[in-house]
Amino acid sequence: MSELPKTYDPKAIEAMWYAWWLEHKCFHSDAGRGGEPYCIVIPPPNVTGILHMGHALNNTVQDVLARWRRMQGRNVVWVPGTDHAGIATQNVVERQLKKEGKSRQDLGREAFVARVWQWKEQYGNTIINQLKRLGASCDWDRLRFTMDEGLSNAVKEVFIRLYEKGLIYRGKYIINWCPRCQTALSDEESEHRETHGKLYHLRYPVKGEPGRFVVVATTRPETFLGDTAVAVNPSDERYKDLVGKTLVLPVLGREIPVIADDFVDPKFGTGCVKVTPAHDPNDFAMGRRHNLPSVNVMTDDGHMNEEAGPYQGLDRFACRKKILDDLEAAGLVEKVEDHRHAVGHCYRCHTVVEPRLSPQWFVRMKPLAEPGIAAVRDERIRFVPDRWTKVYLEWMENIRDWCISRQIWWGHQIPVFYCDACQHEWADRGKPGACPKCGAGGIRQDPDVLDTWFSSWLWPFSVFGWPEKGSDLSFYYPTNTLVTASEIIFFWVARMIMSGFEFMGDLPFSEVYIHGTVRDDVGRKMSKSLGNSIDPLTIIEHYSADALRYSLVAITATGQDVFLATEKFEIGRNFGTKIWNAARFMQMHQTAEPIDVKALKLAPERWSADDWHIVAKADDAAKACADCLERFRFNDYAMVLYEFVWHEFCDWYVEYAKDVLYGSDEPRRREVLQIMHFVLGKSLRLLHPLMPFLTEELWHGMGYGGDGETIMRAEWPAAQDATLRGLADPHVEYVDRKHELIRAGRQLRADYEIPPGRKVDFVLKPARAEDADALRRDAKIVGLLMKAEKLDVDPAFSPAQAMPSALTPLGAVFMSLGGNVDMEAERKKLMDQAAKSREELGRVEGMLANEKFVQRAKPELVDQHRTRRQELLEKIAKLDALVESLKGA
Ligand SMILES: [Zn+2]
Ligand SMILES: [Zn+2]
Repeated sequence: MSELPKTYDPKAIEAMWYAWWLEHKCFHSDAGRGGEPYCIVIPPPNVTGILHMGHALNNTVQDVLARWRRMQGRNVVWVPGTDHAGIATQNVVERQLKKEGKSRQDLGREAFVARVWQWKEQYGNTIINQLKRLGASCDWDRLRFTMDEGLSNAVKEVFIRLYEKGLIYRGKYIINWCPRCQTALSDEESEHRETHGKLYHLRYPVKGEPGRFVVVATTRPETFLGDTAVAVNPSDERYKDLVGKTLVLPVLGREIPVIADDFVDPKFGTGCVKVTPAHDPNDFAMGRRHNLPSVNVMTDDGHMNEEAGPYQGLDRFACRKKILDDLEAAGLVEKVEDHRHAVGHCYRCHTVVEPRLSPQWFVRMKPLAEPGIAAVRDERIRFVPDRWTKVYLEWMENIRDWCISRQIWWGHQIPVFYCDACQHEWADRGKPGACPKCGAGGIRQDPDVLDTWFSSWLWPFSVFGWPEKGSDLSFYYPTNTLVTASEIIFFWVARMIMSGFEFMGDLPFSEVYIHGTVRDDVGRKMSKSLGNSIDPLTIIEHYSADALRYSLVAITATGQDVFLATEKFEIGRNFGTKIWNAARFMQMHQTAEPIDVKALKLAPERWSADDWHIVAKADDAAKACADCLERFRFNDYAMVLYEFVWHEFCDWYVEYAKDVLYGSDEPRRREVLQIMHFVLGKSLRLLHPLMPFLTEELWHGMGYGGDGETIMRAEWPAAQDATLRGLADPHVEYVDRKHELIRAGRQLRADYEIPPGRKVDFVLKPARAEDADALRRDAKIVGLLMKAEKLDVDPAFSPAQAMPSALTPLGAVFMSLGGNVDMEAERKKLMDQAAKSREELGRVEGMLANEKFVQRAKPELVDQHRTRRQELLEKIAKLDALVESLKGA
């Protein structure tokens, strides 16, 4: 046992232990070692990522699970990796190029991709290094990247299998287009936001009937340039005569027909709908039904093209303004209404997405979804909290085909080749030089790359070498637990489930723990633009990684959002300091003959009730911790340890032990110190998954672990032997009640505002005669804890005069203020306090009676006032009772 430094300095400790763990390969798992596997694959952060609080929470939870299962003896692997994040990374490198006055087109595809790789080598490990600061026990030897060779082969293999099975197809459909990123997006990548827009009612003249118009309503008037029909419902009497007639499109003069289609809702707007097949998914379907032409009026970057006539070259929003001016001037705008509606935005750059007709690649999802629906329905895969099951199932049951092609360069290029000589198209695992059909050279590969999620959906098996069927894959797959945020249930979780069944014939994981979102203390999402983010690395610098981890978990209720403020990290820091100080206190008390802390020889036959109590409470804590972790109740796990270590151990047992340790009964001193080592050792192991650094340091500092050993591999505390526990029970009950009695005595002092330095006399009157002996044995320590001048235990006590007292299950506590105290003055003091509280109560009630205040003030403030009113009412009742009890004294 080396002497612990006086103050706990996490910075040096954390860096030292992480390096030690790495050096000793403590995080590495080998399938060859066998045993029962426990496997987690990390949600791969983007290579462009910087650690934020969401990552900190996500990875702390995974690390808690990994460390806990490791201590239980499982063969644990936590596989780390990063995601190439196609659009995001390409954007970053394009911005860098722009500063040099260049574009990716200037470089050409090959040089640009090389440049992105270069960027990745230089900056791509930032987030990995940050995860190390957090203490993540990932198996870094297994670090993967979605674009590394193995994973790229898996992507190619999957594409080809689905292509050959007919589950991947190419076609022209309406997709979500980002004019800034200039690529297609999947439906999930187009984020819908409620927007205050306008509904424009436009007039289209009827050909050959001067003065007659048809009025259509639209939120995107610039798309009228691409209209190829106007539709009405066939049963709409108002427009029966219009069907088959011709309208003249304003400005362009293009003639378009009026058609009848059941899809049109006669109650929406005027009941006449403009049909723009190239810019709207419903119109596209209608266009197909009626053989209408599709006219795309925009360029890739959101400007109007040659189809837009006089508006060619204008940005789409500038065009909207100009068109409205022009139509207004021509008397063709019927009216403009305010209109709230959901508008899709690019999830990478937040530009308004343009629905647009475009040739893209799709995956047919319905057949893939079926086994994934069944597995969640019959609970082979379980979501925690359960409410996400419904969200998942709803999406899966209404699943739409997945647009997987992206018009960018950074990513897995689609392995489809075209022969211009014979028009052959085929998917190929290699880099073919000639057409397999006609032998012609000069073949072309499809220029598009695959959606990034097309590689991450394979993650649970691609990281283990699939399609090779190696020993890692058979040992670790299916994995056990997936820990992730709700935002990516559709993007990622659901798709991993589908790919698991399709390519492995088995589920990818059996439990999905969905944690909440990290928000600021007033509930806003943390974001750079709001400036309300708390940087986890700053917190690690100021407090420690352990404090960050502990606090974050302690304040995060299962699956609920987290409301964070910097001060909250003090919880974890203070807790760490408390444990450190308890350990130091133990070190300062040695026994004549040193205790062998690695082989404690406890002697229960010599234990006092308090000894039995703390050992039993440690057992309760161990059981509760395991139970909480099994049920993903991480904050309860943190709070169980806080309650046990801080209150039961430090506040009660250490205080109790002081009396023994400062005394001269050497066998008792020895026994009590051994119990303290037993309890601290157990606490450190229970706490290790949450505060890995501090616990490792104390594990060694206290001599519990030898050189080359680590608490990471120490055994997770098992439940205590039932016989021993049976013996403990009566003691536990007695000590719990004794604590209650001491608290009541302290409360009496507080109620009478007796300063800590002033000693008073107490009399304890046990409720049951059989507790009298035990209380007499404990009188000294109880007296110390209540700061009593004198403490008597008297089963027959009957106060001669009124005395402040409190009733507890173990007995009554009477406080004597001593003979030389002026009872009348005490009474007056209490009455003054009551009067002051009544005054404050009046003010608080006044505020609450003020309707303006209740309506306009922040709800938190109103709640504060309500709570205060309750507190004051209780305080006044208590003071009145005390005043009453002193009457006639
Ligand atoms: Zn974009
Ligand atoms: Zn050919």
